[in-house]
Amino acid sequence: MPKVGRYYTENVGKSPIKAKHSDLTRWSDSDFKSKCPACPDGVLLVRRNEKTFKLERLDFCVACGQAFIYTDIATLRKREG
Ligand SMILES: [Zn+2]
Repeated sequence: MPKVGRYYTENVGKSPIKAKHSDLTRWSDSDFKSKCPACPDGVLLVRRNEKTFKLERLDFCVACGQAFIYTDIATLRKREG
C-alpha cells in the first residue's frame, strides 16, 4: 500500500469543491479511495454516516483538509449495493 505523505493543512476550512467521484483518480486498488486533486499526495477515503452507514456526500482530504462534495454519490451508493 502506498503511504500517505506529508501533512499539509492549507486547505482546511476552504469552501468545498464539487467533484465527480468517477472522474477522480483511484488511489491504490480501492474502488472508493481517490487521489486528492488539491494537493500532491492526499487521499479521499469516502466517509460513512455513523448512524445509517450510508456513504457521505461530503468528504475531506486526509492530508490537506480540503472538503469535497461528490456530485455522483447516488451512483456510488448504488454500486455498493
Ligand atoms: Zn489534499
